[in-house]
Amino acid sequence: MAMDEVFEKLRTLQDILSEKITLEQDIQEIPKLLVTQEELLARLKKSFIERNQDYEKAKVAEAEFRNLLTDAESMREKAEKNMDVINTQREYEALDKEIHDSAEKEQQYRKDLQREERLLAELDEQMKQSTALIEQQEAELAERRAGNEDQITEKKLKIESLVAREQELTRDLDPELLFIFERSIRKNKGRGIVAIKGGVCMGCHMILPVQLANNVRQKMEDKEEKVNIALKDFDFCPYCSRILFYEEAEQGEEEFFDNDDSGSLADLEDMEEDDYDEDEEEEEKVNIDFEE
Ligand SMILES: [Zn+2]
Repeated sequence: MAMDEVFEKLRTLQDILSEKITLEQDIQEIPKLLVTQEELLARLKKSFIERNQDYEKAKVAEAEFRNLLTDAESMREKAEKNMDVINTQREYEALDKEIHDSAEKEQQYRKDLQREERLLAELDEQMKQSTALIEQQEAELAERRAGNEDQITEKKLKIESLVAREQELTRDLDPELLFIFERSIRKNKGRGIVAIKGGVCMGCHMILPVQLANNVRQKMEDKEEKVNIALKDFDFCPYCSRILFYEEAEQGEEEFFDNDDSGSLADLEDMEEDDYDEDEEEEEKVNIDFEE
């Protein structure tokens, strides 16, 4: 394989790897889309449990007031019966007071009982609504989960076919080179191989040493068949560590080797600062890789 074919191969491989990496990231992201809905469902269930506890409490209170009311009623009825068998004014007054007191209590307990009954009816209605909402949310979630599963399966199938193409392409390439290349693609937003154009790295827009640009151009022009292509056969951008291949600038190559730097400097200014930091870190890492 001549070097220009190798570069072509790496660019095809780059497309495959970057599509594969995007699909892998999508698969990671898909379940996260359900988190909000899962949280809503958890809140609905929690509030249902709380209402149910309130309902149980109200039921106990209702039973208590019902008993108290029955007691007060029977006390009053007993006192009313005793009215028929009294002899003295004092007995009459005592009974009269008892009847009066019991009637008052009855009235209060009846009010308490009605309040608890209203509360029970209200809670019952709320729980019914909340049950319906929970069922609806659960059904929706199940549907979305199934949809997500389908999407994940579909993406995994795509990945499988990409991996098959990747293996086909990489059979005669050095594993170390492939490892560095794939890692560079992951770190460099899908681009591990970039052109030198007009003396500038198209990955990070830095002006590269003329000698480096010449080296890369010569390799492209050299039609010698190479075997066991490995890391040493490539040139890397010293700033962003991407593999470099050579591409003619539109104006013709003469212009940019003895270029005035104005165009390149303009490119430089376009660069975002944080990009630059990333690139610097990257440079150090790759240097270490070479020493290994
Ligand atoms: Zn670069």
